[in-house]
Amino acid sequence: MALLTCPDCGRGVSDQSPACLGCGRPMSKIETRFIEVWFDGEDTRGERNLNNMLRDGWEIVEQNNWVESEQGHNVDITKYKLQKRVHT
Ligand SMILES: [Zn+2]
Repeated sequence: MALLTCPDCGRGVSDQSPACLGCGRPMSKIETRFIEVWFDGEDTRGERNLNNMLRDGWEIVEQNNWVESEQGHNVDITKYKLQKRVHT
């Protein structure tokens, strides 16, 4: 846990805190992104992007899986919803 300085009032604020306790200035916000991973039985697309995001501190908060037919074969699609707290 690190201490940040509020740009508005100069007070120390924990980097875990969503807002400055002194003046209420928002110190961080939740960003949301969606990413799809496709698997067609041989190749996987999008998995590296997902792994990069997880390494970068994003967390999976929701995932949906379904199968689509593409040019005669089935593609297994997983859509991930990811969130990360970023400092403002
Ligand atoms: Zn402040």
